[in-house]
Amino acid sequence: MVTGGAGFLGSHLCERLIEKDFDVLCVDNLFTGTKDNIAHLHNHPHFEFMRHDITFPLFVEVDEIYNLACPASPIHYQHDPVQTTKTSVHGSINMLGLAKRVGAKILQASTSEVYGDPAVHPQTEDYWGHVNPIGTRSCYDEGKRCAETLFFDYHRQHGLPIKVMRIFNTYGPRMHPADGRVVSNFIIQALSGDPISIYGDGSQTRSFCYVDDLIDGMIALMETGPEVTGPINIGNPDEFTIRQLAEKVIELTGARSELVQHPLPADDPKQRQPDISLAKRVLGWEPKVALEEGLTRTVDYFRGMSSTPAA
Ligand code: NAD
Ligand code: UDP
Ligand code: UDP
Repeated sequence: MVTGGAGFLGSHLCERLIEKDFDVLCVDNLFTGTKDNIAHLHNHPHFEFMRHDITFPLFVEVDEIYNLACPASPIHYQHDPVQTTKTSVHGSINMLGLAKRVGAKILQASTSEVYGDPAVHPQTEDYWGHVNPIGTRSCYDEGKRCAETLFFDYHRQHGLPIKVMRIFNTYGPRMHPADGRVVSNFIIQALSGDPISIYGDGSQTRSFCYVDDLIDGMIALMETGPEVTGPINIGNPDEFTIRQLAEKVIELTGARSELVQHPLPADDPKQRQPDISLAKRVLGWEPKVALEEGLTRTVDYFRGMSSTPAA
């Protein structure tokens, strides 16, 4: 079962699991996900879609649960912040209760946001983070932190086999064109010849992982034995400033867009880079797709969309 399976990462995961001969149940309330993301899977005999909000109980029989349901971009998770917290907290309780009843392995899609605006760089899994508990990002950050607590308490209290994966910024085809994330925004703006919107002075950094690499890491983590619980960072450690990203997108698209500065959103982390030593050691995993190659594939995807909505 893949919750959030109609979203960006979830749809790639469903596709990959089907290729690996799993029977896939995709559970999604279609808040940010779309049927279009999974349209190509609908007629597959091993694929099933169920529209359901995981903040409500769910009784199905499954043996592995990938819990990805949760809006992931600031625009979407701040649209209904209480629902965002409920999805991480009530949703995790329901999925953990389900895993406990049926004896399933369960993986949580956690996030680098649990480190907040980090005082340790690059971020290692033993860093406890620097998160504002009452800000506008907190519904997401603190919701995900509480979900990790729940996963570890179900593990300690009920012996549940858990896998906690801390995902760093990921990009690629099927990113939601209107979710305001930096890679999709810049590509859409460049392809439309609009100005590129740099928040702040563009000196803040992020490390961008191509979706195929991320899914490899996710499945590798699920396939580990019960002794591996995580948390484990999965991301690409190549770090870029936001200004460098803008310049790269302009170069790849041949756009003439100018760079325009906008105010930096509240609590925007200044730097982010995963330390992936643990993933290399435990999973034998590391990303393979360099930024330029991944961006080229993503630009091709957005070029191919019939109508490209404005960012
Ligand atoms: P997305 O918004 O494309 O996908 C999330 C999916 O969850 C959507 O299909 C949405 O409809 C569904 N959903 C939301 N609330 C739900 C609910 N209550 N019940 C059922 N379904 C619900 O985002 P994504 O980028 O694919 O992210 C997937 C997961 O990975 C999220 O949990 C996110 O926090 C995590 N993550 C993503 C990134 C990234 O860079 N993309 C980074 C860190 C963590
Ligand atoms: N739950 C669920 N599906 C199941 C089993 C449980 O949605 O197959 C929900 C259940 O409704 C409960 C939550 O998971 O609210 C936690 O279940 P657990 O058994 O851990 O706790 P309890 O039911 O004792 O509160
Ligand atoms: N950002 C930007 N222009 C945009 C969208 C985002 O400069 O059009 C910046 C944003 O302020 C942040 C970085 O790019 O510093 C990554 O933003 P995103 O929302 O993609 O991810 P997150 O902040 O969750 O890492």
